[in-house]
Amino acid sequence: MTHPAQPKASHFINGEYVEDTAGTPIPVIYAATGEQIATVHAATPAIVEQALSTAKAAQKAWAKMTGTERGRILRRAADIMRERNHDLSVLETYDTGKPLQETLVADATSGADALEYFGGLAASLTGEHIPLGEDWVYTKREALGLCVGIGAWNYPTQIACWKGAPALACGNSMVFKPSETTPLCALKVAEILIEAGAPAGVFNVVQGMGEVGGALVTDPRVDKVSLTGSVPTGKKVYAAAAEGMKHVTMELGGKSPLIIFDDADIDNAVGGAINGNFYSSGQVCSNGTRVFVQKGIKEKFLARLAERTGNAILGDPMDEATSFGPMVTENQMNIVLGYIEKGKEEGARLICGGRRADMDGYFIEPTVFADVTDDMTIAREEIFGPVMSVLDFDTEEEVVARANDTEFGLSAGVFTKDFTRAHRVIGNLEAGSCFINSYNDAPVEAPFGGVKASGVGRENSKEAIKHFSQVKSVYVRMGDVEAAF
Ligand code: NDP
Repeated sequence: MTHPAQPKASHFINGEYVEDTAGTPIPVIYAATGEQIATVHAATPAIVEQALSTAKAAQKAWAKMTGTERGRILRRAADIMRERNHDLSVLETYDTGKPLQETLVADATSGADALEYFGGLAASLTGEHIPLGEDWVYTKREALGLCVGIGAWNYPTQIACWKGAPALACGNSMVFKPSETTPLCALKVAEILIEAGAPAGVFNVVQGMGEVGGALVTDPRVDKVSLTGSVPTGKKVYAAAAEGMKHVTMELGGKSPLIIFDDADIDNAVGGAINGNFYSSGQVCSNGTRVFVQKGIKEKFLARLAERTGNAILGDPMDEATSFGPMVTENQMNIVLGYIEKGKEEGARLICGGRRADMDGYFIEPTVFADVTDDMTIAREEIFGPVMSVLDFDTEEEVVARANDTEFGLSAGVFTKDFTRAHRVIGNLEAGSCFINSYNDAPVEAPFGGVKASGVGRENSKEAIKHFSQVKSVYVRMGDVEAAF
């Protein structure tokens, strides 16, 4: 019997599901059991061509609709997503392995937030009037054209919506390629947009590996590429986009610092560290994986952290009591286990976890290392799994310098009751998305994105509009034209 997660076909182009079984089969594995639940096929060149030509053809008419009309469609799509939250969350759990306890509140819901927010902004994307005596200049905020979205595997619904909603609000069309690891959820977003009234072709989904992503990025018809992925992929995609002078948004990886001063509320700080390391089993780009704890509270912090981490419930992700799911794939599990071994070898002190859980699926116990030093591999490289490194520090000046000593700059957090210090420290940290006495909140109203190697551009908020549109300026002369001859 066909599994309920099996989509009708692999791709969604021009308002309908499309199949081409000549493409390489991509098995969809449920991470909690290792069982194959679906198969899709990578896009063939013919499918890529169909998606791009369709999106190109649909864009002009979409951009000519009023912002109010476009916005209404996006907001209708948001309503449909909320109505179907349960089914979409189950699918997200099949796609990623993340527990239903999370997907019910974090995925289709945040996708709906993006559709609603950008739907609301669509009608207010106006220009300026610049008076110049009798003459004037007016500006128009115009769509970029055809945009490509490429997603990572940790938030397949959210990423499709974080890219699709602002792109469509501005009058662009999009071809979206999900990660080959999680191909299911973006298809539902495409289906829902059509149901909400979006014209066929404005949001299309094609499956495939990096090769398909590469074909999309290099196509001359494409005006903009928005990637969520790792730094190495980001460098390749950015370089390929530069060849065609395309706009880019790069949402890449991190190794973010979370700084806990000795005056912090310990339980809130432990809560922040748990949210910033173990949500989605640590598979979150903005995670605060370098937890700097001031020496005075170190052992108290570690004791409370170990106690609360012991309350994590590993198990069937479809059971709403489960609070901690598996790694997305066996490969990702092995990568993370490799980092745990490195941590042990390089002399970090294991506080809890540190091994594969004794159960089916790709579960790793939530793992905390203490006495981690700046030079250790686990403190320098993005692990993308449930591995928290706790480092000690003495002074503010020292911790800020150490926190900034990384190629990454996605997020940063600080816990302290001293608000002057909190703002000063955040001001000195090289990061794009920061938190004071909190960690990993990502409301659609706030800009999201990194500095340094962690990215270019911002998603969410009004900032995203700037990255999916461009300004045309028009000089209007009222009098005669003066010329030298
Ligand atoms: P990857 O960089 O491996 O892949 C990202 C996407 O790019 C995938 O769809 C991938 O396809 C595609 N891709 C790979 N090579 C190319 C290429 N040459 N041209 C075009 N597309 C290509 O990242 P992961 O999927 O492993 O995701 C984890 C990474 O994503 C982490 O580094 C994480 O920090 C980052 N991330 C960043 C976020 C942010 O907002 N800053 C949010 C979430 C994750 P395929 O997978 O099929 O090979």
